[in-house]
Amino acid sequence: MLRIRAQFVHPVTAPPISDGAVLVDERGRIAAVGPNGAVPTPDGAVRREFLAAALVPGLVNCHTHLELTHFAGRNSERDFSRWIRTVRALKDATTPEEFVRSAERGAASMEELRRALDRLRPFASSCLRLGVSPHAPYTVSEPLYRAVADFARREALPLAVHLAESREESELVRDGSGPFAEALRARGVPVTAHRCSPVEYLVQLGVVQRGTACLCIHCVQADQRDVAQLRDAGASIAHCPRSNRAHAHGTAPLAAFRRAGLSVGLGTDSVLSVGDSSLLAEAAAAGLEGDDALRMLTLEGARALGLEDEIGSLEVGKQADLAVLPSTILHRPPPPSTALLTLVAGRVVHG
Ligand SMILES: [Zn+2]
Repeated sequence: MLRIRAQFVHPVTAPPISDGAVLVDERGRIAAVGPNGAVPTPDGAVRREFLAAALVPGLVNCHTHLELTHFAGRNSERDFSRWIRTVRALKDATTPEEFVRSAERGAASMEELRRALDRLRPFASSCLRLGVSPHAPYTVSEPLYRAVADFARREALPLAVHLAESREESELVRDGSGPFAEALRARGVPVTAHRCSPVEYLVQLGVVQRGTACLCIHCVQADQRDVAQLRDAGASIAHCPRSNRAHAHGTAPLAAFRRAGLSVGLGTDSVLSVGDSSLLAEAAAAGLEGDDALRMLTLEGARALGLEDEIGSLEVGKQADLAVLPSTILHRPPPPSTALLTLVAGRVVHG
């Protein structure tokens, strides 16, 4: 067992506690949380004390590309469609054999998806859930979107889609024009003008639909009508303000999402877009601070991923996913290295 005492404990679902403590049991779950004097110290429990620090639920990153981490600093393209092409070029250059394999996979992609899920299922746990992610309207065809959405529904898997990110994407979907349309036509791929927004397009295809958990990443190019459609479909949002800014996509309507009652979490996207994976910097870029920032980085993020019964707040019975941060961090810009201690499902992974 592990007993952690801190100057402040932020359960998020209850008011902050001065001089608080959390007890983690052998299963990696929270056994007690409260004022230091009220949390037991069982025989043999390991004690950690942080008397100038804040104990918070583990921060939830709703969207990141860990597979691109080794490309940090390798793409300086400013124009988004050229940036995407450079990412593809970097990926292809890493392993030339992979290019052939991925072409073969493209030809039999649904079959490959089924096989990949069968291969990954044994690794699924309360900490690691599987889902499917048809990338974006400029890389996924209409039949493939329908097939993946049907598959996700049948298998009860959550979906994640990059949606309404750039103006170029809107141009492609609405008018069948712009740089994405030109690039597709140059490769012999037919392009159709759908005469609707990207959000409406995925609603029509049944990808964004009530009854299927769908995380919509970016959603910068979303107007009032789109926000209402996302709400009606029960979709959630991964808000990536620094990536959106880096690619000059504009600003996602965060206030409108929250007013509509959509679940919104923050995502760092890839280091190729923003240079690091700091969620605290995302919160600052979203204009959030203090308790509001903490709530979006923890409980609201967990809700956006459908994990709020397991993580996102310090409550008895939940997984002991938590972090100890310098106590001023929620009110000041973060120093480069911040966490003093990090636990995932009760396991110390840092500190
Ligand atoms: Zn992404």
